[in-house]
Amino acid sequence: MSTQFDVAIIGGGIVGMATAMALATRDGLRPVVLEAEKELAAHQTGHNSGVIHSGLYYKPGSLKARLCAAGRDEMYRFCAEHAIPHERCGKIVVALDGSELPRLDELERRGRANGLTDIRRLTPDGIRDLEPHCAGIAALHVPITGIVTYPAVTRAMAGVVRAAQGDVRTGSRVVGVRREDGGFIVESTGSPVRARTIVNCAGVLSDRVALMCGVEPGVRIIPFRGEYYDLVESRRSLVRNLIYPVPDPRFPFLGVHYTRMVGGGVEAGPNAVLAMARHGYSWRNWSAGDLWGLLRFSGFWHMARAQWRTGVMELRRSLSKSRFVADLRRLIPEIRGADVFRARSGVRAQAVDPTGKFLDDFHLVSAPGMVHVLNAPSPAATASIAIGRVIADRVREVSSARATVSPALAG
Ligand SMILES: Cc1cc2nc3c(=O)[nH]c(=O)nc-3n(C[C@H](O)[C@H](O)[C@H](O)COP(=O)(O)OP(=O)(O)OC[C@H]3O[C@@H](n4cnc5c(N)ncnc54)[C@H](O)[C@@H]3O)c2cc1C
Repeated sequence: MSTQFDVAIIGGGIVGMATAMALATRDGLRPVVLEAEKELAAHQTGHNSGVIHSGLYYKPGSLKARLCAAGRDEMYRFCAEHAIPHERCGKIVVALDGSELPRLDELERRGRANGLTDIRRLTPDGIRDLEPHCAGIAALHVPITGIVTYPAVTRAMAGVVRAAQGDVRTGSRVVGVRREDGGFIVESTGSPVRARTIVNCAGVLSDRVALMCGVEPGVRIIPFRGEYYDLVESRRSLVRNLIYPVPDPRFPFLGVHYTRMVGGGVEAGPNAVLAMARHGYSWRNWSAGDLWGLLRFSGFWHMARAQWRTGVMELRRSLSKSRFVADLRRLIPEIRGADVFRARSGVRAQAVDPTGKFLDDFHLVSAPGMVHVLNAPSPAATASIAIGRVIADRVREVSSARATVSPALAG
């Protein structure tokens, strides 16, 4: 016997859970979240840097800019209300030489356009006041940035969903979706469920879940692994809070940085190397099927042609600790190889279009009775509560709508 729900959400990461929360608490609907793994937040949400982003980097007016600003404030409120450990510790973004100053200027301009009125330019003395071991000729101080552990947030959201009569099921990998009686039957490794609407929040597998639902997503997910090193305990004092480089605007990632973690410890990373599997958490994890899918995708070859130099540089840095440490020393010259050890990694779900372009903004595709989340990279954890609300709005539209495939969330 299958249970009837209003909405079945595929994926128990933070975006799926925030969507369920909006549907259950704001819209009075009964959602079920179906998560493949035994635990919630098992993939991107449980393998990220744990930063509550300010909204500094994103193009003014973009969904990332708008939803990061709204979501950040809601994330702080949610953590306070649910007694989730977090800290508003601030960060600095550091220019190491004159060539980076125009990009630092542009970040400052974007930050102000995105409503960050309290960002402040730092001189080398100002940098040393905040981070005594950090090099750099100028920096931006962003006081509103913070740290948290997102799996704790996701679990608290699941509590809210259950309290509002929603359901959250782990160990339920969705393997088939079919239309029946104006709704859907969702088959999974747990018991089947019936739902009027489907939301796909499957992260690194979201393009495949869309195809499984009979929707051509228009993009493919390319997995990029981010590897971290940890600072040994005796050297953690080299970093007080968060220290970031000025990012390379041609690449959608923020560059290797230092992050103090909410539970103690300091991480350095993540880099961004092509993963050999959708769940390719190390060079040992590879999948012939995933690689074959990548090689058959025209966007991969266009991307490879455009980005091969960066790709080779990232590959060499991934394989060589001394190269990784050399990059870390640009920000903190005192760091030595013995000060860091290889630690965990995460795999980012990055949507790429058939021309090889990285999708920069959050991206949803609607189809009758369905919403597919096809690009929810950083800062989607920070922005999750705001994104969840926008997805819930979309649920309302697709539940009544005729067939539309809209190119973007804003559309
Ligand atoms: C290395 C790294 C660092 C990052 N740092 C930050 C940061 O500091 N701050 C920030 O805001 N963001 C950060 N991000 C981004 C952030 O983690 C993601 O944007 C966010 O977690 C996306 O959440 P999600 O729910 O969409 O995806 P996920 O957390 O990946 O969840 C998707 C879920 O779907 C499940 N699933 C897949 N297929 C199925 C199926 N068929 N049936 C059922 N379930 C299925 C998966 O098991 C998974 O749990 C980082 C990401 C990475 C990888």
